[in-house]
Amino acid sequence: MKADIHPKYFDCHVHCGCGNTFTTRATVKELHIEICNVCHPFYSGVQKFVDAAGRVDRFRKKFGEKTAKLENKKA
Ligand SMILES: [Zn+2]
Repeated sequence: MKADIHPKYFDCHVHCGCGNTFTTRATVKELHIEICNVCHPFYSGVQKFVDAAGRVDRFRKKFGEKTAKLENKKA
């Protein structure tokens, strides 16, 4: 390895928002993450909305009423 061009490589403690922690190797000593393999729906099999709160409500406010009226006319 060439001297003085490589970043320092530490043991990295990773803390997830779900409470899970694990150790890996990285150029920082500590990481705080929002999602990991334990709580990600793809691996956990549990459906969970990671989406920012309010987006679905905003959509319903804008289009929900119209959709409901259309469904009533069809019936
Ligand atoms: Zn997690």
